[in-house]
Amino acid sequence: MPAKQSARGKSLSESTQFMISQHLWLRILAGMVLGIITGLLLSPSGFALVEANMAFTIGEWIKLPGVVFLGLIQMVIVPLVICSIILGIAESGSMEMIRRLGLRIIPYFITTTVIAISIGMALVHIIHPGTAIDPALAEMSLASGAAADSIPSHTFNDLTIPQRIANLIPTNPAKAELERNMLQIVIASMLAGLALLGIEDKTAKPFKDLCIAGQVLSMKIISWGMVIAPFAAFGLLGNITIRIGADALVSVGLYMVTVLTALACMMAVYLLIVKLFSDFNIRQFVSGIREAQLIAFSTSSSAATMPVSIQCAEEKLDIRPDVSRFVIPLGATINMDGTALYQAVAAVFLCQVFGVDLSPGELVLLMMTTVGASIGTPATPGVGIVVLATILVGIGVPAEGIALIIGVDRILDMCRTTVNVTGDLTASAVMQKWLSK
Ligand code: ASP
Repeated sequence: MPAKQSARGKSLSESTQFMISQHLWLRILAGMVLGIITGLLLSPSGFALVEANMAFTIGEWIKLPGVVFLGLIQMVIVPLVICSIILGIAESGSMEMIRRLGLRIIPYFITTTVIAISIGMALVHIIHPGTAIDPALAEMSLASGAAADSIPSHTFNDLTIPQRIANLIPTNPAKAELERNMLQIVIASMLAGLALLGIEDKTAKPFKDLCIAGQVLSMKIISWGMVIAPFAAFGLLGNITIRIGADALVSVGLYMVTVLTALACMMAVYLLIVKLFSDFNIRQFVSGIREAQLIAFSTSSSAATMPVSIQCAEEKLDIRPDVSRFVIPLGATINMDGTALYQAVAAVFLCQVFGVDLSPGELVLLMMTTVGASIGTPATPGVGIVVLATILVGIGVPAEGIALIIGVDRILDMCRTTVNVTGDLTASAVMQKWLSK
């Protein structure tokens, strides 16, 4: 690797070292458990150790580190995605390589997403978690409007398909950034990366250096956020448990089991893919990607994990930089198998709760919508559930039903992000082999 890239690798390692060392994920898990216990002790519908108003005020305060943590990640996510994608493409060698990779990677991503959704759909139909919910609780969730903040005010609008395709090109990149339209941002960054590939090195260098600095700087800020991650987990779960109480948590237990089992099955599918379609053995692959998985679990953001994923791919698995630097940034933003699976399970679960019957045709439509929605879901914490609202509206389930599952979303977000990141690393391993043929 050229000297400059090693220097970048070193700076990245320094800023991410804290996340990996000191068992951060374990401390986050402890924060989560303590948060739920504290929430149960204080919640008016739990042990109610203090009066309701007091409990809600405490909830607001303990949630503060969580809000700061999420804020820091959100703050740097757009520059991080832009810099990583531009660098990924600009450093990936040649246009020919991009073309060969692109032709293979897009069908691959779509196939794995469809597999993920099918696993989710199959399990939610077998386990049927929606029937375990007390109808009174479902009605209450509609009335409470607890999810109001998370539900987008506008849903998929009725643009025609050619209009939607034309809309992918951001005619006003600043507006795309302002509105956090991730798909447009990804496309603008890819174009910039391709353009850099096509201009002479001397002219491209200052811009590439700027992107390198932007990436390292963003990771530095994320690593600061990680210092408070355990407190964030404590506060976010504590606050939500105070608000929704124990009953609500227990009643969606079966739904959680469904999502987690489906995610575990998807992990098994990845291992199978690695065994069948890559040059790695499973043990080597699993130990090579561990750090990226831990960061994904801790940050709940595929984008924030991206630089570490690239590092794991190149340094631990010896994947060619031209593969990893193209596949991982692209995958982090458009390949979200865990999110797609989760959105499918959640949508069918809420259909079961609210008695909406889906015909086989509607199920296929739901699958297609979910593939599209997961591509458009930004790689940041907690957005999978926001995008879910638009899916629900499409199939006639009240989006307020999200109130029912929002309490457990943090935990599921951490797990689905881990699956998303594993999917990108699996894709890199497979592409490495396919391109060497
Ligand atoms: N947090 C997920 C990710 O960044 C997206 C989601 O909310 O599902 O991969």
